[in-house]
Amino acid sequence: MSTILEVKDLKKYFKVNAGLLHAVDGVSFKIEEGQTLGVVGESGCGKSTLGRVVLHLLDNTGGQILYHGEDVTTVSREKLSALRREMQIIFQDPFSSLNPRMTVYQTIAEPMQIIGGYTRAQIEERVSEMMDIVGLAARFVNSYPHELDGGRRQRIVIARALVLNPKFVVCDEPVSALDVSIQAQVLNLMLDIQERMGLTYIFITHDLSVVKYISNDIMVMYLGQMVEKAPADELFMHRYHPYTRALISAVPIPDIDHKRERIQLKGELTSPINPKPGCRFAARCIYAKPECFEVNPEIEEITPGHFVRCHCVRELNNL
Ligand code: SF4
Repeated sequence: MSTILEVKDLKKYFKVNAGLLHAVDGVSFKIEEGQTLGVVGESGCGKSTLGRVVLHLLDNTGGQILYHGEDVTTVSREKLSALRREMQIIFQDPFSSLNPRMTVYQTIAEPMQIIGGYTRAQIEERVSEMMDIVGLAARFVNSYPHELDGGRRQRIVIARALVLNPKFVVCDEPVSALDVSIQAQVLNLMLDIQERMGLTYIFITHDLSVVKYISNDIMVMYLGQMVEKAPADELFMHRYHPYTRALISAVPIPDIDHKRERIQLKGELTSPINPKPGCRFAARCIYAKPECFEVNPEIEEITPGHFVRCHCVRELNNL
């Protein structure tokens, strides 16, 4: 396996009336080819912005995004458009990401028509192949989005994102808008396609049970920063950061004999605009010490491959 993407100290700030909103603030990670990095956190933690900045759909404020070792923020325009074919995104809500006036065929074919160089027969063949891969029956080829259910609409979105044969896909809450009964089908489809096409995913979600199912590694974000990252099984076995503990405590478990006590987060959410010094989780953390309000902890590798950002991680976990 080789590294397909390496992100170093990535920052994305937005100017707002009250100052600078630190949406992504010093995030670093690597992904190996064919693997999935799950990114979890509450709404507003910066995970969707991170996905867009990694694809260079939004400019970064600082840091590097190395795709196969090349910094996508400094490559030429021609190179960037070639890279864009390899790097795609699947959005959350198929209703807003599909044009209601375009048929299934037109929607899936459009990326090929935009870049050009394909004959009509090639496009027809590829659309039919993609419909087959995502499990959309050929009879829907001339249907419009409103004529299809949510699961089928999301299959169109996936087919369109993959029609140019990308290598790397950011999946931004791809099943959140679907009924629970359809979520599992679409997740299984995404796993099948990953294997078949050799894809690498960043899978963004607020739902830890979904991310556990699909990810090799999981990164937990809080107010623009990575607070914990580890292989998926390791993170569920050893959740070291107080915020990760609270998130995992909210995941339902199917065993009625082993009830897990839910940790309720209290306290005010710290503002991501001109954030104060100190740990960003301090206002909601029951373990916070005076030091936590003064100095933002560095991310630290606590055990091989397991990274945590917390001053008290050793004493809280007897490490
Ligand atoms: Fe809690 Fe302090 Fe750790 Fe932040 S650094 S998570 S406030 S114990």
